Amino acid sequence: MICATARNFPARLYLFSSSALPEPIVHDLLQPQIILLKEGTDTSQGKPQLISNINACVAVSDVVRTTLGPRGMDKLIHDDKGNTTISNDGATIMKLLDIVHPAAKILVDIAKSQDSEVGDGTTTVVLLAGEFLKEAKPFIEDGVHPQNLIRSYRSASSLAIEKIKELAVSIEGKSLEEKKSLLAKCAATTLSSKLIGGEKEFFATMVVDAVLAIGLEDRLNMIGMKKVPGGTMRDSFLVNGVAFKKTFSYAGFEQQPKKFLNPKILLLNIELELKSEKENAEIRLSDPLQYQSIVDAEWNIIYDKLDKCVKSGAKVVLSRLAIGDLATQYFADRDIFCAGRVAEEDLHRVAAAAGGTVQTTVNNIIDEVLGTCDVFEEKQVGNERFNIFSGCPSGRTATIVLRGGADQFIEEAERSLHDAIMIVRRALKNSTVVAGGGAIDMEISRYLRQHARTIAGKSQLFINSYAKALEVIPRQLCDNAGFDATDVLNKLRQKHALPSGEGAPYGVDINTGGIADSFANFVWEPAVVKINAINAATEAACLVLSVDETVKNPKSESAQGDAAAMGGRGRGRGGYGGRGMRRR
Ligand code: ADP
Ligand code: MG
Repeated sequence: MICATARNFPARLYLFSSSALPEPIVHDLLQPQIILLKEGTDTSQGKPQLISNINACVAVSDVVRTTLGPRGMDKLIHDDKGNTTISNDGATIMKLLDIVHPAAKILVDIAKSQDSEVGDGTTTVVLLAGEFLKEAKPFIEDGVHPQNLIRSYRSASSLAIEKIKELAVSIEGKSLEEKKSLLAKCAATTLSSKLIGGEKEFFATMVVDAVLAIGLEDRLNMIGMKKVPGGTMRDSFLVNGVAFKKTFSYAGFEQQPKKFLNPKILLLNIELELKSEKENAEIRLSDPLQYQSIVDAEWNIIYDKLDKCVKSGAKVVLSRLAIGDLATQYFADRDIFCAGRVAEEDLHRVAAAAGGTVQTTVNNIIDEVLGTCDVFEEKQVGNERFNIFSGCPSGRTATIVLRGGADQFIEEAERSLHDAIMIVRRALKNSTVVAGGGAIDMEISRYLRQHARTIAGKSQLFINSYAKALEVIPRQLCDNAGFDATDVLNKLRQKHALPSGEGAPYGVDINTGGIADSFANFVWEPAVVKINAINAATEAACLVLSVDETVKNPKSESAQGDAAAMGGRGRGRGGYGGRGMRRR
């Protein structure tokens, strides 16, 4: 890079040390060099860099584009280990794509954050960010300073969010039955774009029941999800309580009763097993008779433990640790059911549901620490046996047992239900919904265009572009369903422009290819999904626009892990910083 003589460029700042120039010339003619970065460092900067970042982000959003909406397609992703995943979920796809472009990684991050914040709208957020950038590109090419665009985008985003809040309809104050059906509508909208969309009503009711069962419990793992391959989707069922796969059991287990009504449940975290001596244990005996007493003592200890369990009155004994063959037989003789090596998570869920407390000793077991439920049963589900505790007094937990053909299918069903569960929880907490199917997006777009007209100056153009970008949602919904997007969008624009405002809830009608009142058709989305999506997408777009230089340190090639610690690189705002991003 450094080849010109100093005479031609007297005031030039040299970034690289150069060994190409003969020593004497350097000494004679050059002012002292300032070496900022190591040799071999690669910098790309200025407008071309910004444009290339935008292109990368648009390419990423093009990948997930076709998955949006009820008619969206799925992606099959397979990795070098031979795992295949079929998914429609934006966050899952982005995670699996393994994107290496530093700027495009920002989109992965916002998809993830949308997933953890609200649980749905992950495709939407990536698509919006991509579209905002696409709209910004011609301006950047024409020499508009990115900061001007950023400022306008930010103000457009806050206007949009205010408008969403204004349009959102509250479902507060309704009766439980009404609320249930409203929540089921939200869940159905989420599920309609998924592989299990065909059975969305079935699953929507299930999800709502599950969420209502755990009440305002914050821990999501109180809704258990068990996957049992085989059968059809319709064989899936909800247990109002806990269900888990039968654990490993010893001989004698068959003789235990497999069903109880109102049993007392004892939860333990101790081993009920005769243990062989530790290798380094040493006992010195002087008299052979003493040996028998030691064996007896050992047996007495375990029998004492078992006796105490039985005396507590419990009919079901669960332990996180092993319950051996001796104990299994002992319980079987006394008509008690036992299961050892229960997963910790399941044990805690039983405790929460049945109202017991996990014990670490069998001494002094009082009634208060025992749980109970209406029915305990061991049942065959497909090829597996399940222990099912239903009708638990303190509720607060539910289990969905998922059935279906292929493994990939059940896994995608689980991810889809997760989205739906999150949505119902969100809707329950925030209890405001907006019309989906692109209706809310069209309405904000119209509002922003109208607002733009009142602004004098360049900002008008930028806000107009932002408004135009929002139309990507209805357009993509149409494209994915094979409708004529231009035609539908024209109809929608006309409807939304009605001065009376009655056209506001109109969105794409996915069944006929025309337009329809999304609100009346119960295509609802929690307002928070849209608010979060617009916020995150704008923030990501602004972040990409604010980068004008990428610096790649040659060392980072070999030591990827150190990337974060390197100089000349800032982390972006809100933790969105990708490799090589610099913010000013
Ligand atoms: P995301 O990952 O962003 O949630 P989805 O693939 O779930 O993406 O698609 C969500 C979009 O599909 C939302 O804009 C929603 O309004 C729309 N949508 C869902 N169900 C329907 C429907 N029945 N008719 C029209 N649009 C729908
Ligand atoms: Mg969705």
